[in-house]
Amino acid sequence: MPPKEVAVIGGGVIGLSIGWQLAKNSLGVTIYERDWAGRGASWAAAGMLSPRTEVNMQENDLLQLGLASAELYPEWVDELESDSQISVDYRTHGTLMVALNRDDQAELEHHYAVQLAHDLPVEWLTGVEAREIEPYLSPRVTSAVSCKSDFQVNNRLMVQALIQAFKKFGGNLREQTSVRKIEIQNEEAVGIQVQEDFIETDLIILSAGCWSSQVDGLPDWVRPPVRPVKGQMIALRMEAPPILQHVIYAPDAYLAPKGDGRLLIGATCEEQGFDTKITAGGIFELLRGAWEVLPSIYELPIDETWAGLRPGSRDNAPILGKTQIKNLIMATGHYRQGILLTPVTCREISALVMTDQTSNLIAPFMLKRFA
Ligand SMILES: Cc1cc2nc3c(=O)[nH]c(=O)nc-3n(C[C@H](O)[C@H](O)[C@H](O)COP(=O)(O)OP(=O)(O)OC[C@H]3O[C@@H](n4cnc5c(N)ncnc54)[C@H](O)[C@@H]3O)c2cc1C
Repeated sequence: MPPKEVAVIGGGVIGLSIGWQLAKNSLGVTIYERDWAGRGASWAAAGMLSPRTEVNMQENDLLQLGLASAELYPEWVDELESDSQISVDYRTHGTLMVALNRDDQAELEHHYAVQLAHDLPVEWLTGVEAREIEPYLSPRVTSAVSCKSDFQVNNRLMVQALIQAFKKFGGNLREQTSVRKIEIQNEEAVGIQVQEDFIETDLIILSAGCWSSQVDGLPDWVRPPVRPVKGQMIALRMEAPPILQHVIYAPDAYLAPKGDGRLLIGATCEEQGFDTKITAGGIFELLRGAWEVLPSIYELPIDETWAGLRPGSRDNAPILGKTQIKNLIMATGHYRQGILLTPVTCREISALVMTDQTSNLIAPFMLKRFA
């Protein structure tokens, strides 16, 4: 029997998407969000969906999870847009990784070999071929790898759509409401402490991003090892027609052009605790890295700068599924790929809640791997 009342701690893309599906399945769901929903890492992200581009030889389970999520994306977006009546700007132009000099090219060749070893659909391009696809790329681009099936989405629109879709099915979103503590009795989660109130609940889903380890009440052996990893970003404003359509991975920055004319450039990767200051050095390095591959950005106005905190676990892979505490499920630690991994996390965690079965896809990502 699925639980009647579910409390979700944290209203980012992960908590909202699980909440949406559970509410749609007629469960009573309350999402507790201490700030405004979707304004954490989910707001700060670039929205790239790049399992093939970001493949790494050591992380086969994570690659399979990312590919499964990318495959779910088209249908998931259709359902979300239909439930929310909000378009999330799912863009299918593909992704190019580019090299600018011999060092970059050697690294790109190595990466390309890893992609081929995983049977990923990628193609090696000369600089000339890359400029045929994206004419504003610098003449210094010597070569590129095309990942035609790595797409992108507008994560800020996705957040808004998830909020609407969650509410449409009767979901209760309590913003400006911090969960202080998870109450545990005899190794069973029985409720949460919200400000001064104790709220009893049948099931708790912890999806508080990089703050997940800070909720009181968890014994040390169940505290998820999640830390904040700071990322600074900048958005430029392109005029029509846009100077870029594909996502570009350059050696020192990535560029993600959105349907609304914003060109996102990211991101730094800094271990600075919970600090979110924008620094001159961070922005300078991003602009330099982007300008080297796309010199025309020099003329573009700056729209916005911001910084967000990625939830990084000890092995940088997500923490998904049941824990050693009864009625406590985790969905956190999505690090650099939480937007990509939202559909698969949403599907697998809601299936776990409804059926009590853990699928093979998320089994490698349970908290117990850190024991
Ligand atoms: C600069 C940057 C670029 C990124 N780019 C990409 C990308 O291109 N593609 C991609 O796939 N991923 C990307 N990511 C990663 C992605 O953004 C995250 O993995 C994802 O958003 C995590 O979602 P979440 O819901 O777990 O966390 P969050 O969005 O951070 O949500 C957690 C929420 O929990 C709330 N909360 C915390 N503590 C409590 C509490 N005690 N009580 C109640 N609420 C609480 C917070 O206020 C927050 O709203 C990027 C991240 C950053 C920072």
